[in-house]
Amino acid sequence: MIGRLNIAVVGYGTAGQALAILLARDGHAVEVFERAASPGPVGAGFLLQPTGLQVLWQMGLLPAAMAHGAPVDRLYGETPAGRAVMDMRYAGLDARLHGLGMQRGALFTLLAEAWEGIGELRHGTCVEQVEAETGRLVDAEGRRHGPYDLVIAADGSASRLRAQVSTGRVDRVYPWGALWCLVPRGEWPWPAQLRQRYVAARKMIGMLPVGTRPGDTTPRLSFFWSLPRSDFDAWRSRGLASWRDEVLGIWPQLAAQLGHIAEPTQLTHASYRDASQRQWHRGRLVLAGDAAHSMSPQLGQGVNMALMDAMALRDALRDESSVGAALASYQRVRRRHVAIYHFWSHWLTPLFQSEHDTVARIRDASFLPLGRLPGGRGHMLRILSGTQQGWLGKHALQPGFIAALAAYRASRE
Ligand SMILES: Cc1cc2nc3c(=O)[nH]c(=O)nc-3n(C[C@H](O)[C@H](O)[C@H](O)COP(=O)(O)OP(=O)(O)OC[C@H]3O[C@@H](n4cnc5c(N)ncnc54)[C@H](O)[C@@H]3O)c2cc1C
Repeated sequence: MIGRLNIAVVGYGTAGQALAILLARDGHAVEVFERAASPGPVGAGFLLQPTGLQVLWQMGLLPAAMAHGAPVDRLYGETPAGRAVMDMRYAGLDARLHGLGMQRGALFTLLAEAWEGIGELRHGTCVEQVEAETGRLVDAEGRRHGPYDLVIAADGSASRLRAQVSTGRVDRVYPWGALWCLVPRGEWPWPAQLRQRYVAARKMIGMLPVGTRPGDTTPRLSFFWSLPRSDFDAWRSRGLASWRDEVLGIWPQLAAQLGHIAEPTQLTHASYRDASQRQWHRGRLVLAGDAAHSMSPQLGQGVNMALMDAMALRDALRDESSVGAALASYQRVRRRHVAIYHFWSHWLTPLFQSEHDTVARIRDASFLPLGRLPGGRGHMLRILSGTQQGWLGKHALQPGFIAALAAYRASRE
């Protein structure tokens, strides 16, 4: 049995928050280092998958998540002419399953409340270096912290600590990114669906119901607009009026929601990376969340994987007899799950965000038929729900979780 450890967690995003809670609850002494002076959510909303929801259930946080989030039953994508490109329903896997759209602020607050009082958060501290053999940290002011028995780098997709573990197999910024923001849901006709519209792969709009957040009872949608990173500045100087006309030309039903966007500053721009590591740990240092495996958000898995990493690391530290063995076991378990998502994210992202018109035409012609083939349908649904494991395996969801999810859903309706 591994005894009580002194653990440093670098980064107070979803991975860092979940790890801090789980490890402190197991009796470890946990200190969190976050570079932001006032830690908080960045961006609009996301889709939690059954895999991520199962972790929240294990943490006892599913009721609070369900109280704020918006159940999502279907992902539907179409062209502006109304031709369906993608249509997937969780019910194709199990009638009791669904995703949960959430505001970033809602999950952040829920996790922050669970963490309060059980460990220390050092905000405004940017960790520059970790001495993996001794477990000491050096921050941007040159201060040294530690030693710690274990240092968890959960410093996000642009992780600077990742390279201190091993050289990356891939680490590159995608040429395309997104603008996104929250808008009031209003009379939006699809309150339980993630809806998307595509113009080839050059333009893409996403509307995801994300429910409410603590202190704000207005149900909202997360609005997503794809564009090349190199166009961010041009977009800002272009002015909102002509951009709004462009968006409404693609999707006229957005008029009411877009009416709430009065300033370009209401939209946050996001860029993302494709990064994967051969090795997730070295000495006392281990990676988690986007620091370990960063991918584009097309498959909607990053937050879920951050939660799954946290649970897997906690379990490995419970089950193994040394920290070294626990880190090896954690890497084995999580890489087995993450690999297929990396593969698909790498190949599918250009189908939705690129200038490759031919590739987009193939996508438009093939996605629906592929989704109707018996083998293809199950694979696509498992990829969507986060439950695909390798090419042939399944990540099992616990019967107790599925029953709890169905019961919370029923109690809301
Ligand atoms: C547009 C967009 C849409 C997305 N949609 C979805 C979705 O629908 N579903 C989904 O599951 N995922 C989605 N994702 C992905 C998801 O947001 C990420 O995978 C997830 O937030 C990763 O969490 P993390 O904790 O690993 O990293 P982060 O949330 O990035 O947290 C890292 C933290 O570390 C801190 N930090 C960084 N460097 C240092 C340092 N040196 N010292 C101290 N602190 C540091 C940062 O300030 C930050 O607080 C989306 C992403 C984008 C961009």
